[in-house]
Amino acid sequence: MPTLERMASAFDTHQVTNQPPPLSGHDVFGSDAALAEATARHGAAAMLDELHQLGRQAGNEHAQELGRRANEHPPVLRTHDRYGNRLDVVAYHPAYHELMTTAIRHGLHAAPWADERPGAHVARAAKVITWYQVDGGHICPISMTYSVIPALRHQPDVATEWEPRLTSTTYDQTNRPAGQKDGATAGMAMTEKQGGSDVRANTTTARPSGVAGEHLLTGHKWFCSAPMSDAFLMLAQAPGGLSCFLVPRWRPDGTRNPIRIQRLKDKLGDRSNASSEIELLDTWGTLIGEEGRGVRTIIDMVNHTRLDCVLGATAVLRQGVAQATWHTHHRAAFGTVLDEQPLMTQVLADLAVESEAATLAALRLAAAFDADPADQHEQLVKRLVTPVVKYWVCKRAPAHAAESLECLGGAGYVEESDLPRLFRQSPLNGIWEGSGNVMCLDVLRALLKEPESLDVYWTEIDAAAGADGRLDDAATELRKELADPADLERRARRVVERMALVFQGALVVQHSPAAVADAFCASRLAGDRGLAFGTMPAGTDAAAIVERARPVPLA
Ligand SMILES: Cc1cc2nc3c(=O)[nH]c(=O)nc-3n(C[C@H](O)[C@H](O)[C@H](O)COP(=O)(O)OP(=O)(O)OC[C@H]3O[C@@H](n4cnc5c(N)ncnc54)[C@H](O)[C@@H]3O)c2cc1C
Repeated sequence: MPTLERMASAFDTHQVTNQPPPLSGHDVFGSDAALAEATARHGAAAMLDELHQLGRQAGNEHAQELGRRANEHPPVLRTHDRYGNRLDVVAYHPAYHELMTTAIRHGLHAAPWADERPGAHVARAAKVITWYQVDGGHICPISMTYSVIPALRHQPDVATEWEPRLTSTTYDQTNRPAGQKDGATAGMAMTEKQGGSDVRANTTTARPSGVAGEHLLTGHKWFCSAPMSDAFLMLAQAPGGLSCFLVPRWRPDGTRNPIRIQRLKDKLGDRSNASSEIELLDTWGTLIGEEGRGVRTIIDMVNHTRLDCVLGATAVLRQGVAQATWHTHHRAAFGTVLDEQPLMTQVLADLAVESEAATLAALRLAAAFDADPADQHEQLVKRLVTPVVKYWVCKRAPAHAAESLECLGGAGYVEESDLPRLFRQSPLNGIWEGSGNVMCLDVLRALLKEPESLDVYWTEIDAAAGADGRLDDAATELRKELADPADLERRARRVVERMALVFQGALVVQHSPAAVADAFCASRLAGDRGLAFGTMPAGTDAAAIVERARPVPLA
């Protein structure tokens, strides 16, 4: 038996030094200066209190633990009961339900549709960026619920029935007909095995049931996330062509609608969220919008989810910066704190510039979603800038997450640090709702079909004219690229990347501190940088950029 003295000396060998305190107990929203400033600037100043409240909740240890648990215990499919009857239900860990409860209570799923205050979409966007940093997975059904409403409004009688449920701030996880519930969520099922980008290739059929508007759908969907949602928008081939349907989990007569969940996808990340394959056999659906105009109808949902992809990717960038700047501020190597070592400061500053530029673009885009539908300028910003920004911000996320992770050294590769989960989540927003090439082709489509959108884009850029010569030069070069119609499809990634950078540049020179704006223009517009993060030119005030980006604990 060891003596007391021996035990004491054994404990002495286990001294933990030079390890940072956990990044918790801070305001995730308030610590993000770029986000807080942009939120106030774009008309949501009246909602700042709500945002700080959610920010503090996102920054506390309990919420962070919920995010971990919801991912460590992913959803489980139960296809049948013990007697062999079909169940088609997914069981989630209680942590997932708690995350959903908070998101819905704060209106991330629908507040702008029920809240007439100006800036409601901007405030919601800032909330999504904030709460996504706790767990990205459950934001999927939150985002689809937000996005379904503008599409449902193509069918006013259905919208009148469903909107009160979808905008309710009560999360009701029970599996009952939506009419009996205190709140509802919605999903979307477009992608089929033979095509996701090319939804016109959908083979699911919809035959009229004999009751006006009602159809019976037969076929399959290859990706259907959040399959416990109360209703889904689906595309199917009706006699009049590809059409959009609302398909509830329960039929109007109170019986279960046959939505057979075949299996759940075993995904790279996004593990708290269930993504399923489903089969439909005479599944009840009601027509939304005009028969044969399904893509036109569902595109309103798609455009809002594309905004949310930008918000999700922006959150990935910000979380990486928060973790990297925090860790390196509290850890030393070779006798000096890491974030004071010149090479590390360069890396952190580069990551922070990327995050700030993405944040400004995301919130400017969200402001367009707040605009009056009669405001032609803002509608065209939405049309053209959504795919431009979605392409670029999502494209930056995986490389950014990898570099943020590396700032923590080996600890960043260990699950407990949360960065492996961030890294696995990082490519997803680039795939959802139109992957990279599809976004670039969509930009070309907008330029072709709504050429006025380019004039609107230039109005946005011209607002910053003269502020920085490097921005002016980049804009001139871009005008030349866009004026050359030759081989535009092959050049689309190059052109869209430049459009995104010039758009971000116009925002940072107007709104960011000089150090951030200068670093952005030098590295991203004048091209004075290498291919990796941490290669911005001499003269960059990296220390000031890092200081601005580092999260601050609550007093
Ligand atoms: C986790 C997860 C959850 C999902 N949840 C849902 C959901 O709930 N509902 C739903 O409907 N879908 C969902 N999806 C599906 C997703 O939207 C599709 O995977 C996506 O739209 C791409 O479609 P696809 O997989 O068929 O790829 P494809 O369409 O086969 O595309 C493959 C590649 O080819 C590129 N490409 C396509 N066309 C062109 C072209 N003309 N020129 C050049 N390149 C081109 C694409 O950019 C892509 O890189 C989910 C996907 C994931 C990963």
